[in-house]
Amino acid sequence: MGARKMMALGLDIGGTAIKAMVVDVTGAIVGRASRETPASSGVEACLGAIEAAADAALEDAGLRRHHMVGAGVGVPGIVLSKTGIVRTVANLDGWSDVPLRQLLASRLGIPVLLANDANAAALGEARFGAGRGIGNLVLLTLGTGIGGGVIMNHQIVEGGNGLAGEIGHMRIEMTRPRPCGCGRFGCLEAYAGAKGLIKRAHEALADDWKRHSALHEVAEGRSIEAVDVFRLADDGDFLAIRLIDDTALALAAGIVNVMHLLDPDLVLLSGGMTAAGPEFLGKVCSFVRELALEPVAGTPIRYAALGADAGGIGAAALVLK
Ligand SMILES: [Zn+2]
Repeated sequence: MGARKMMALGLDIGGTAIKAMVVDVTGAIVGRASRETPASSGVEACLGAIEAAADAALEDAGLRRHHMVGAGVGVPGIVLSKTGIVRTVANLDGWSDVPLRQLLASRLGIPVLLANDANAAALGEARFGAGRGIGNLVLLTLGTGIGGGVIMNHQIVEGGNGLAGEIGHMRIEMTRPRPCGCGRFGCLEAYAGAKGLIKRAHEALADDWKRHSALHEVAEGRSIEAVDVFRLADDGDFLAIRLIDDTALALAAGIVNVMHLLDPDLVLLSGGMTAAGPEFLGKVCSFVRELALEPVAGTPIRYAALGADAGGIGAAALVLK
C-alpha cells in the first residue's frame, strides 16, 4: 500500500437512505455518497443500491475498491456478525436470514464485516468520537425510539442472538405500563423516546382543560414535535417543563440500570433529542446522581460527537483494525 493511509468503506443502511463513506485510519471521511433505500423492493435491489453508493463514495474520494482494506456495514436490524447473517430488519421488506456479508463481499470483491447500526455508531464514537480511547462505554441513540450500543474492551457486545444493547426495550415501569412499539409494555422507549414524549404531550393537553399551556396553540396549527416541547420548556411553560422532567427522569432510570449492570467508563447520548442542548443533559445527570449507587453516580454522561456520521464511521472501524 506504500505511503497511502489504510482506508475502508463504511456503509450505513437506513430505512430511507444508504450512506457510503470512505474513512481513513484517523476516522476522517475522505469521500461520501448516498442512495435512496429501495425499502420495498427486496434484498437484491438493496444490494444494487449499496454497491452504487459504495462506488459513488469511492469516486468522490478518487479511489478504487482495491484501495480499501474492506467494507463495514451497519444494518438497522438484528445481525449475527460471526456468521455474517442479517436475521431481520424492521423497515426493509424481504430481509430475513440474509447472508449479507457473503453476498456483499462477492459483489464488491473486498472483505465485509457487519454490525447492528447502533452498535456501529457506538464503536465509531469509541474509536474516533466523544469516547475516543475509552474501552468501555454505552451509547444511547435518542430518536423517535431509543436504540443503544455497548462497547466493552473496545469491542461491540453483540450477545448470543444479536440483541445486546437494545436499551430502549428495557422495562422501567411495571405499574400501569405504557405500550411500546415493540408490542410489549413499560419499555424505556415508551417514556423517553420522541414519539413517547409527543404522546404524553397530547395526554397532558387533554388534562389541561383551563388551557394554561402554550402547547395548546402549537397543537391547533399542526402536530406537536419534540422540539416544540423543549422550546416551550426553555420559555418556562409549566406543562412543557413537566413533560421534559418526566422524560429526563425516565432516561436517567434507564441509564442507571445500564450503569449498575455494566459500570461503563462513559455514557454517550446521540440522536435528534440531543438537540435539546446542555440543560436537558444537566437534568438527566442530576437524576442519575440521585438514583445511582454511589460508585457509579459520577460516571460521565455526554453528548456524542460524530452526529449522523457515527454509523458509517463506526462501520468502517469494524475493518480498520
Ligand atoms: Zn419496547
